[in-house]
Amino acid sequence: MRRGSFFDRIFSLVYPDTCPYCGRIIGNIDVKCRDCEKSIKYSFSVREISDGVVCVSPFQYNGKVRDAIRHFKFEGCKRYAWNFAFEMAKAIDLKFPLEKFSAVMPVPIYKSRKKDRGYNQAGSLADELGNILNIPSIEILEKIKNTAPQYTIKDYKERINNVQGVYKANYLCEDSQERLLVCDDIVTSGATLKECVRTLKSVGFKNISCVTISNAKS
Ligand SMILES: [Zn+2]
Repeated sequence: MRRGSFFDRIFSLVYPDTCPYCGRIIGNIDVKCRDCEKSIKYSFSVREISDGVVCVSPFQYNGKVRDAIRHFKFEGCKRYAWNFAFEMAKAIDLKFPLEKFSAVMPVPIYKSRKKDRGYNQAGSLADELGNILNIPSIEILEKIKNTAPQYTIKDYKERINNVQGVYKANYLCEDSQERLLVCDDIVTSGATLKECVRTLKSVGFKNISCVTISNAKS
């Protein structure tokens, strides 16, 4: 599977693609370098988020995967979205073989944070996943309150409180058959995904599944 856009492929000619896990130059159809292909463990997991809604992840949040996600999230390595989305698509296929999703949506971030970072990492993942799965990527939810990042809060109850009522749905579900995929970079307590699912259900979405690059809970 090639990288999505024409622009990305031209960009790759000027700035070669690098392995997200070690920084070595790789070909533009390679997901990672040969060494990392051998050493990065694919550790597929399925977590229950809320009634009947699960989150699948191809990796645990540790070692080189954790470093790669930090580079992706905080150091402007937006292009790694394709590499991660490729691994996420494999996890989706393992849990939901032959299932066709209607759309993928990112967990939203507050607009000022998106402005500071220049992109929403979950939005980049959703766009790449949409290309790979051949489904639209739609921003159904909006974050309407600027809250402290979840990773700065340790207590589970406080994490739940921190995200309560922070999302607003911009669409109503018009088709009860719609199969929605919600994507984010990491699932830790699951509180963020749980609140997204609750908000989506409140506007009629019934069939929801989640996917992240990594699972921070073993
Ligand atoms: Zn590598």
